[in-house]
Amino acid sequence: MAAAECPSCGAMLEVGRKPKIGQTVRCFDCDTRLEIVWLDPVELDWPAEEYEMDYEEEEDW
Ligand SMILES: [Zn+2]
Repeated sequence: MAAAECPSCGAMLEVGRKPKIGQTVRCFDCDTRLEIVWLDPVELDWPAEEYEMDYEEEEDW
C-alpha cells in the first residue's frame, strides 16, 4: 500500500496499491482534495484547477 503525505496537514494518506498521476484523494484529517502529482515516491499536491463537479475517481478498471 502506497502512502503520501498531505501537503496541507502532514497526515499520511493511503493512495491504494496502484496510484496514478492525476488521481484525486481526499485527506481524512483536513478534508482537503488532493491530486497525485508524482509516483516514485508518491507526492500529493492541490489540484491545479478547481472543478465544479465533485466526483471521486476511485474506480480501478
Ligand atoms: Zn490533510
